[in-house]
Amino acid sequence: MSQAQKPLTVPCPQCHRKVEWREDNPHRPFCSERCKLIDLGAWADESHRIAGEPALDETNIDEWLARADRGD
Ligand SMILES: [Zn+2]
Repeated sequence: MSQAQKPLTVPCPQCHRKVEWREDNPHRPFCSERCKLIDLGAWADESHRIAGEPALDETNIDEWLARADRGD
């Protein structure tokens, strides 16, 4: 008998903590409402610039999920 399948995790775009990708996480891909608001605020300030970190938006969420799946 195998263990229950681990939930998919993605890195929180704000603090990079692992976040379980669950239907009942209203803040996904963020770990919390706090990170979500910080990130949105950062965008508003145009200070959200992290070299080599592509912005996470709904158009590339599938790619993010694929990357998370590969564990990279
Ligand atoms: Zn976070």
